[in-house]
Amino acid sequence: MAVAVASLPTPAPTPPPTKQQELKKRKQPQPPYLPNRHDYHPTHPSLFRIEFGPEGEEFGSCLRAERAFAKGEILCPIRSTLPGTKAYSSVQVLPDPALPSSSRAATSRPTSFTTAAPASTRRHIELNSDLLYVNHSCDPNVVFDVNGREAEPSEQDERATSDGRWRVRAEKDIAKGEILTFAYFSTEWDMDQPFHCLCGTKRCLGTIQGARHIEQGVLDGYFVNDHILAMKALQREEQEQQHQ
Ligand SMILES: [Zn+2]
Repeated sequence: MAVAVASLPTPAPTPPPTKQQELKKRKQPQPPYLPNRHDYHPTHPSLFRIEFGPEGEEFGSCLRAERAFAKGEILCPIRSTLPGTKAYSSVQVLPDPALPSSSRAATSRPTSFTTAAPASTRRHIELNSDLLYVNHSCDPNVVFDVNGREAEPSEQDERATSDGRWRVRAEKDIAKGEILTFAYFSTEWDMDQPFHCLCGTKRCLGTIQGARHIEQGVLDGYFVNDHILAMKALQREEQEQQHQ
């Protein structure tokens, strides 16, 4: 029996593919968590909820704060995630590929991930919650801090949101009802689906392809996770070697 593949609602993380990408007709993997607008149960009801875009334009969906947050406040831990492969819906949490152990980048920088994560550990995750709907902005109001590791199920709120645990933090004061955004290049090295950013902010960087394509001086103006900083260091190391 043929399985009817309904037209998949497409979650928000990246704006619509460019014409060129459409031509490639890429088959998009479906994220493990994909809420249905008609039967939606927020995963963090007291904190934020999805605002679904017009029917058929799910890329217009977003996540709105259900209450105000002060700059620096932790919104929630990032937990109950699932292993993922690099996709439009995934979040990178470790260098990919792994840093060569001989590189300065792997040895010189005290990183939260080299001790926390053996080489086999998952490098991309699926958020598996409404956090999937946090759109990109080049002038974001939250950060996804994935330094360290995911909180264990047994870790209660205070421990689950302490240093060294994955968490979402307010980068600015956020008003109730505001759309939550983070900078995708703070986690992604080389994005599966580059896109032309329409954030409209003064800081807009235009086409977003991942940190690989952004100068360190620009990244310095942002919170960027350790795995990206380490990959950036390796990139510089390799460029130096090429020039020798
Ligand atoms: Zn932008």
